[in-house]
Amino acid sequence: QAKAAGRNAIRFFDPQMQTALDMRADLEADLRHALEKRQFRLYYQIQVDRLHRPLGAEVLLRWAHPERGLVFPDQFIPLAEETGLIVPIGLWVLETACTQLKAWQRDALTRDLTVAVNVSARQFHQANFVAQVQRVLLESGAPPAQLKLELTESVVLENIEDTIGKMHEIKKLGVSFSMDDFGTGYSSLSQLKRLPLDQIKIDRSFVRDIAFDSNDAAIVHATIAMSQALGLNVIAEGVETEAQREFLDHHGCHAFQGYLFSKPVPLEQFEELLN
Ligand code: C2E
Ligand code: MG
Ligand code: MG
Ligand code: MG
Repeated sequence: QAKAAGRNAIRFFDPQMQTALDMRADLEADLRHALEKRQFRLYYQIQVDRLHRPLGAEVLLRWAHPERGLVFPDQFIPLAEETGLIVPIGLWVLETACTQLKAWQRDALTRDLTVAVNVSARQFHQANFVAQVQRVLLESGAPPAQLKLELTESVVLENIEDTIGKMHEIKKLGVSFSMDDFGTGYSSLSQLKRLPLDQIKIDRSFVRDIAFDSNDAAIVHATIAMSQALGLNVIAEGVETEAQREFLDHHGCHAFQGYLFSKPVPLEQFEELLN
């Protein structure tokens, strides 16, 4: 009874908030069954070098919801993180990406491509994450050297000692690491320098105004210089215009990802893109 009254009280005081809570509850209920109903899709976004030659792809998750249509990660990843559902979902992403990586070994056109997989904090800090990566590599037969895991600064901040230890163990398997959305988080350079990274990924918020905003241009320039000084590979995300590509190229960033080359697309379309 008290529960019902409490619920009514919320409705009375803030109907909008109640609607938001109801919607969230619906979404959460649907999310719980999305895996078994096979509603997730992987989209592939090409990464290219300065001659537009394909280097690989980042896999990006989509949820093909029966009523809502294609749902983007911003709409469900935070909820998946909170509920812990990101753990089985993230495992599915890793398995699917590695299975594809293995399949690509049969064709000269796709044999050398790398696949970048986003890993969330909750997933990475699971006690058995390293074992999972190892198992998925073994079961899929994917070449570890062509698998790249993208971490964000939030992963690092959650527990830096655990992060460093796990990264070293995973690197021993042959897998590499990219620091996603670089510069948008709150980690310090003294923390970052302790991580066994292979790549820095310049966030698209810095790339966007690179040609007009001298501050963004300076940040990007400095990030590229720092990456080079640390012996790290660097890639820019969110490259939409030739002017942006040109600036990045000129300053020493020779790998690109963004709508200028292609949006994230389903596998069949990605493979057509390569032809
Ligand atoms: P992210 O890893 O930084 O991925 C890049 C995002 O930028 C993608 O959004 C991509 O579609 C978008 N993007 C790429 N090029 C351009 C461009 O030129 N212009 C603009 N405006 N946007 C561009 P998306 O697919 O909506 O994914 C958003 C975020 O969701 C990702 O950011 C990543 O943090 C997360 N995410 C996606 N898939 C997964 C996944 O499988 N697992 C986890 N844990 N997170 C994921
Ligand atoms: Mg990413
Ligand atoms: Mg990113
Ligand atoms: Mg980003």
